[in-house]
Amino acid sequence: MKISEIFHSIQGEGKLVGVPSIFVRTSGCNLRCRWCDTPYTSWAPEGETMTVDEILRHVQAYGSQFVVLTGGEPMIAPEVGALTARLKGSGYHVTIETAATVWQDVSCDLASISPKLSNSAPWDRAGGRWAKTHESLRINYEVIRKLMALDDYQLKFVVQDPADLAEIDEVLSQIGDYESSAVQLMPEGTTAEALAGRKAWVVEVCKRRGFRYCPRLHIELFGNTRGT
Ligand code: SF4
Repeated sequence: MKISEIFHSIQGEGKLVGVPSIFVRTSGCNLRCRWCDTPYTSWAPEGETMTVDEILRHVQAYGSQFVVLTGGEPMIAPEVGALTARLKGSGYHVTIETAATVWQDVSCDLASISPKLSNSAPWDRAGGRWAKTHESLRINYEVIRKLMALDDYQLKFVVQDPADLAEIDEVLSQIGDYESSAVQLMPEGTTAEALAGRKAWVVEVCKRRGFRYCPRLHIELFGNTRGT
């Protein structure tokens, strides 16, 4: 599978925020979010092909027991099921960060599901040539429900504007059965300034609705840099 980077850092998002973790970032994505913060795995994917054994050796070189499989979109990698099974079999706690548009049989402790809203559609990027494909793929309720049934899960929405809330409500009503405390709202932004401009209203929405506020701690700690 094509790997962009493997590194040891602090989980910056979601219910395991702050936990030292090893990140395995696959390269390649079936979506093209206009604000993608890892364009080197989507718009211009780069990386090297590694076997499951090679990935495991890299992971074992670090001390943490927490592994985050992220991307890009890890669920499009053909060996993702084998990789997650090997990691789980070796005693790691495995999080899969996915947009939940593609299903494969995987083993994980936490499915970090990030359904993409219409604010992600790249109508103003690359002449809009990816926008229709992105729009047709970005939500797949069957895959979302299957991932939620695997084990623990979180539903993480990237929000830009208070108007996004109506769309989130529609997505949640289509999902049907979910825990409000598993819903997380994360302000979009790759700078402390951009996040600061959104966090006040996002906090108020979370208080009102019982959702969880999702910080981007890695931006605060390291800025928008690779390998963090
Ligand atoms: S799903 Fe993730 S990796 Fe893919 S384009 Fe969107 S933000 Fe980037």
